[in-house]
Amino acid sequence: MSERLIDLDALALRSGEATWMEVVLEPEAPLLGGEQLALEEVPIAARVDVSRTTSGYALRLRAPVVVTGTCARCLGPARLVLEIDAREVDQGEVDDPDLRSPYVGEGLLDPLAWLHDAIALALPERLLCRPDCAGLCEVCGISLNDVEPGAHIHESEPDLRFAKLRELLD
Ligand SMILES: [Zn+2]
Ligand SMILES: [Zn+2]
Repeated sequence: MSERLIDLDALALRSGEATWMEVVLEPEAPLLGGEQLALEEVPIAARVDVSRTTSGYALRLRAPVVVTGTCARCLGPARLVLEIDAREVDQGEVDDPDLRSPYVGEGLLDPLAWLHDAIALALPERLLCRPDCAGLCEVCGISLNDVEPGAHIHESEPDLRFAKLRELLD
């Protein structure tokens, strides 16, 4: 049973009181720029903190999430560890929609929908195998991560600066 809702009111917290629980969640693997990523180590043990405020709840969701996919630069395998730490407020007893959480309805918290969105928000624009990935050689396509920096050079069109230099030396 992955679709598990937390009945906040059933926790019977008084204003100022707090509790937490562990929930085991199996979110769908996210998409990034149209690419299907994968999640390692699912199901995920997430921690949900619930604090009762005077007019509702303050909520916190924490979960270790490991995302895998293809490096956008060198096309090698990429693995990213995300420490999800998200907060929500649901002041259910006031009318301001800004103070309502989209993950709480009728006093029930949906941690799976929340984690799903929190993962999407935590993803970088592009997945890289490492922050300084050197990418692929534009000429021959080998991974520049596998060669000494600057050591991989192709004999291509003659460099005009060198031609000038040679003229001067002649
Ligand atoms: Zn890479
Ligand atoms: Zn090359």
